[in-house]
Amino acid sequence: MSTSWKTAQCGCWSSAFWVKPVHHLASSSYAISLKDEMLENWIHNMATGESPHAFENPFPDYNGEKLLGEDRKLASSIADRLKESVGRLLKHLHTGLSHDANPKRPDFSVYTGTSGYAYLYLHLHRCLGVLDSKENEQYLGQALEHLREPLANPQGRRHTFLCGDAGPLALGAYIFSKMGDERSSTQCIANHLGMDKVDREVIVKVTRAILDSGQAMGSQARDNPPLMYEWHEKKYLGGAHGLAGIYYTLLLVKDSEVWPEIEKLVRPCIDYMLTLQFASGNFPSSIGSSSGDKLVQWCHGAPGWVCMFVAAYKTYNDKRYLEAAERCCDVAWKRGLLKKGYGLCHGAAGNAYAFLTMFRLTQNQKYLYRACKFAEWCCDYGKHQCRTPDRPFSLFEGMAGTIYFLVDMLDPLNAKFPAFEF
Ligand SMILES: [Zn+2]
Repeated sequence: MSTSWKTAQCGCWSSAFWVKPVHHLASSSYAISLKDEMLENWIHNMATGESPHAFENPFPDYNGEKLLGEDRKLASSIADRLKESVGRLLKHLHTGLSHDANPKRPDFSVYTGTSGYAYLYLHLHRCLGVLDSKENEQYLGQALEHLREPLANPQGRRHTFLCGDAGPLALGAYIFSKMGDERSSTQCIANHLGMDKVDREVIVKVTRAILDSGQAMGSQARDNPPLMYEWHEKKYLGGAHGLAGIYYTLLLVKDSEVWPEIEKLVRPCIDYMLTLQFASGNFPSSIGSSSGDKLVQWCHGAPGWVCMFVAAYKTYNDKRYLEAAERCCDVAWKRGLLKKGYGLCHGAAGNAYAFLTMFRLTQNQKYLYRACKFAEWCCDYGKHQCRTPDRPFSLFEGMAGTIYFLVDMLDPLNAKFPAFEF
């Protein structure tokens, strides 16, 4: 288990100037440092009542149309448009990456670097290619091509899947094995982990360390839930590096040696999380956050909480968790078409995975419909005057992640947020 990837640097824009009461902002020191463009946007938003973070959702809600075909995949009338967009965006991605072939500071991570492209091509291989077809092999070959440098230049700094060497090594082990090169596959594992691969005892040890650390911090204040964590001295709450992501990951560890303890400790934590939900259905990004009901994105805000509530509902069979997840999806539907773009971490594609998670659980086509509409929005990539992400082609911030999502939409009952959902 690699819960430590929660320490991933999230490249979300802070855009911390959105404070609802105008007089707070006007008197705050934030205002002094605002760029002119941001200030103009803010004045416009205040005048029009628009959210500075999201576009108004232009789509009507679900009206009962049938969205799945006989084969339980997305109906071809919708799927064809998505496939056309995937082809078009892949061409843009190729062009973009070829212009950025030799960056001064190479980024090998899954999160925003080369290994993320390998992850995307592996996904294309699994979802789009027909077995033994030429296309299928090409995707796998392209995945391996993007891994060559990360595998040849291990960074040795971080252990995490998203930002460290574990990402390219795990992908390498899998891809080499798929290509029938067991020797190289084994090397990816053996050179770094030892031949016992990921021993069950290691998983138990890591889980225990997470529980011990959470309990130590949890016991420091009476208001804390039993398991508490900090990152950069802040008690973050969201899916990317906060409590929602950590509790969700713990609920995935079903090892009998630690499961009874997890089951007992996590439930009061989820109950604590319930108390933090705003009337809108959203959640704050951190405990004590002064910015309030602001961000609606996977890394910070309601969309990143859905996996946790769904896992908790499955574990404890408590309807309150399901209802909380429904409210998360409602706010994601209203405020989830983000001005930050179409990406996974803080964009429309990532928010749409909240709907897909709920669709897999409930089979309620309303959620599939909402995901389809967000996919439709993503098909018009670049046409909404969103901001350009720092890493515009990357898996978690940019175009690679949007393509990943559009491909996942073709088989919505098997769609899962990459590197997070299991
Ligand atoms: Zn983010």
